[in-house]
Amino acid sequence: MKILVLGAGVIGVTTAYVLGRQGHEVVVIDKADAVASGASHGNAGQLAYSYVDPFPNPSILKKLPRYMSGRDSGIKIKPVMNTHYYRWGLLFLRNCTAARAKCNMDTMLGLARQSMEAMQRLSTELPGDMLSEIPRGKIILAKTQADMIKLEKPALEKQASGFDVETLSRDECISKEPALSTWQGDFCGGLFAKAEGTLDPLRLCRALENASKKQFSVAFKMGHTIKRLNVCDNKVTGVTTNHGSITCDKVIMCLGAEANALLKTIGKSCNIYPMRGYSLTLPAGPQAPKMSVTDPLNKFVFANFGDKVRIAGFLDANLSEDKIKMRGKMLLEIAKRLWPEAADYSAENHLWAGYRPMTPSGVPIVETSPVEGLYYNMGHGSLGLTLAAGSAERIAKLVWQSMQKSSIKRREKNHVLVP
Ligand SMILES: Cc1cc2nc3c(=O)[nH]c(=O)nc-3n(C[C@H](O)[C@H](O)[C@H](O)COP(=O)(O)OP(=O)(O)OC[C@H]3O[C@@H](n4cnc5c(N)ncnc54)[C@H](O)[C@@H]3O)c2cc1C
Repeated sequence: MKILVLGAGVIGVTTAYVLGRQGHEVVVIDKADAVASGASHGNAGQLAYSYVDPFPNPSILKKLPRYMSGRDSGIKIKPVMNTHYYRWGLLFLRNCTAARAKCNMDTMLGLARQSMEAMQRLSTELPGDMLSEIPRGKIILAKTQADMIKLEKPALEKQASGFDVETLSRDECISKEPALSTWQGDFCGGLFAKAEGTLDPLRLCRALENASKKQFSVAFKMGHTIKRLNVCDNKVTGVTTNHGSITCDKVIMCLGAEANALLKTIGKSCNIYPMRGYSLTLPAGPQAPKMSVTDPLNKFVFANFGDKVRIAGFLDANLSEDKIKMRGKMLLEIAKRLWPEAADYSAENHLWAGYRPMTPSGVPIVETSPVEGLYYNMGHGSLGLTLAAGSAERIAKLVWQSMQKSSIKRREKNHVLVP
């Protein structure tokens, strides 16, 4: 079975690895020269299995005017005249009811649990100690008692789903992460998630690329821009790239925020909207955190990257690219004010910006498409690294199930009795 995986971000390379492990011949295609050149390159590196709360929920509704008028420092959604934006926005609003938010949260927790287990399996397979050495634990800060109450209810749901999370007082937060004693903002406590970790997404993607090339029949065609999906009689037959056509039996789309452009070539579309975020990677300061610390109020996280600290966050829609530097500067200034000793802010910082592939429900699209042989693994929003391993296993299962079905059909056609 020859399978094309389109896109070499964290979703694509993890999918290729798992399909390769299953014994398929896999070819990964990406327009970039190296793996993890899109949203997977400089993200916050959080394996945030219990912090998968979907963005649409009832409480977001009253915050939308702030986000859309540019008054919020962390989230800026600029209204534009564009049918995709309006369609996505209406679907987003539909997902802001309590019932849908609960249903989406349950779906996310299920995928997160599967991803945690699948990542543990990967950690035993990948060479080196990359996955066993990951810094553990994450604290999500609550500024006021009201914020604390907002964290408590979902914490109970997460505990009921088997996640090891607990609410902590301010002093308990500081005893878990002593560097928080130098935090300059207000906080009265937080939520502690013990099993969450930090993993450099670029290192993971490179390790998966190397392991899948070495151990399995997986090839990478980098520098290939996919121009078109080729479909005949509602069955996918391959793709056309700037270097010619490639045929196959199945195609897995892992194109992140750019999936729509290719789907248009076969008259289809998906509800994925690109929302930009930023990261700064700086040398660790004298009070660098050992674990991750998320500030939901300012919408960013401080993550331990060994001798470096990565500060990542913000969420912008429809802001032009010439605003990237300005947003990076804003992130730096807020971080410096809140946690002056966490990083060496005077050093040269590496500003990076990437586009999260956001769905209106917050739940990724991991499914078979209406076109035979075409599968979707995309729309992982702010959680692609966290959910990559579980999503890849789900796709591999769908591929396996379809092969089983075809083999049963073939046997029936040949009049062989099926037990
Ligand atoms: C600031 C920020 C912080 C984040 N922090 C976290 C975090 O801590 N934890 C977490 O789990 N997630 C985090 N995320 C989200 C995560 O980065 C994404 O969900 C994830 O990277 C999406 O992976 P992907 O493989 O779907 O997309 P991408 O990594 O964008 O990969 C898509 C690939 O498709 C290729 N491509 C697109 N179109 C074509 C074409 N026509 N031809 C050929 N190739 C094409 C691109 O070159 C790209 O390499 C963060 C995101 C941002 C922006």
